[in-house]
Amino acid sequence: MAGSGKAHLRNADEVLLRVENLVKEFPAGGGKVVHAVSDVSFDVAEGETLGLVGESGCGKSTTAKAVIQLPPPTSGSVVFDGTDLTDLSAEELRQQRPQFQMIFQDPISSLNPRRRVRDIVSEGLEIWGGSGGGAFTEGRVDEIIEAVGLDPQEARKRRPHEYSGGQCQRISVARALVLDPKVIICDEPVSALDVSVQAQILNMLEDMKDRYGLTLLFISHDLSVVKNVSDRVAVMYLGKICEIGDGDEIFKNPVHPYTRILLSAVPDPANPFAGESETLDGELPSPINPPAGCRFHTRCAYAQDICRSEEPQTEQEGDGDHWVACHFPVRNDAPAAD
Ligand code: SF4
Repeated sequence: MAGSGKAHLRNADEVLLRVENLVKEFPAGGGKVVHAVSDVSFDVAEGETLGLVGESGCGKSTTAKAVIQLPPPTSGSVVFDGTDLTDLSAEELRQQRPQFQMIFQDPISSLNPRRRVRDIVSEGLEIWGGSGGGAFTEGRVDEIIEAVGLDPQEARKRRPHEYSGGQCQRISVARALVLDPKVIICDEPVSALDVSVQAQILNMLEDMKDRYGLTLLFISHDLSVVKNVSDRVAVMYLGKICEIGDGDEIFKNPVHPYTRILLSAVPDPANPFAGESETLDGELPSPINPPAGCRFHTRCAYAQDICRSEEPQTEQEGDGDHWVACHFPVRNDAPAAD
C-alpha cells in the first residue's frame, strides 16, 4: 500500500513527533524475515491523539514500540521535538525515556503484585529522580494518584490485587504520568476491561491529556474505541498505513476498502456504514511473505490487475486532511470486482 509517498506529513516545526519510512523486521529462522512494519510514515502534533487501528497482527504495536526504540527500528527516522531518536547513543536515549511512557492492555499483569500501589506509582521517580527532592516526590505521587480517581491513603496500604481491573488501569496511568511525560503510548488500554468500565477509563485518559498536556498514540483493533478518542486516525494493514487523516473525516468518508470494512463492524447509530454488507474474507496474509502490489489485494472486492503488481502510493483524498493508499478508492463510481 503506501509506498514512499509522504505528502501527508506536516512540516517538522508543526509536530512533536515525526516518523518517516519506519521499517521493523525480525529474523524468522531459515533465512526468512518477518516484515512487521514496512515503510510507515506519520506525525503527531503536540496535544494531539493519533489513533492507530487495524487487525491483530497488523504491526500497530510493533510500530509504537519501534517509535520509542523498544526495540529500535530496522531503518527509518523518529524525530521527537527536533531530535532523531534513532541517532542517539544508549545513554542519550536513556535520558529521553521519561518523555515516553506506555500503558499496556492487561493492567493487572503489568503491575508488580508484591508492591503497594503507591510504591508502584512512585517507582519511576525512584529510578529517574524527581527534580524537587523528597517533598516533590511525595506531593507529585499523591497528586497523580488523586488525579486518576484513586485515594492516595489507600494506595499506601493496598496492593494491585485489591483493586478492580479498571482501577488497576488507573494505577498504570498514574505510574505513566508521574514522570511528567510528553507522549503516552496507549496499547489497547481498554481491551481487557468490561464494556461498562471502558468509557470511564477513556474519559479519564481524556481528562489527563488535557490536564497534563499530553500527546497520545492510541492503539486499538476496535475502531469504535479509536473513534471516540482520536483527533487523527491511521489505519494499518499488514505493516503499512492504508488510510490516514482527520478522524471525523475518515469516519464520515472512508474510501479505502479495508477501512470501510472495519467501520461496518462499528455498532454506532451515528455510523452510516454500520452493518454494510462488506465483510473481511480470509486470513491476514503472513508478514513473512506479504502479497506483491497492494498488500490488501488478496482480500479486496475491488482488486484489479494493477493492484496485484503495483503498490499504490499515498494520495490526498479531497482537499482536506485525508490520505489514502489505494488504486481505486471506494466512491460512488468505484469499479466492480473483475
Ligand atoms: Fe488495494 Fe486495489 Fe483494493 Fe485498493 S482496490 S485496496 S489498491 S486491492
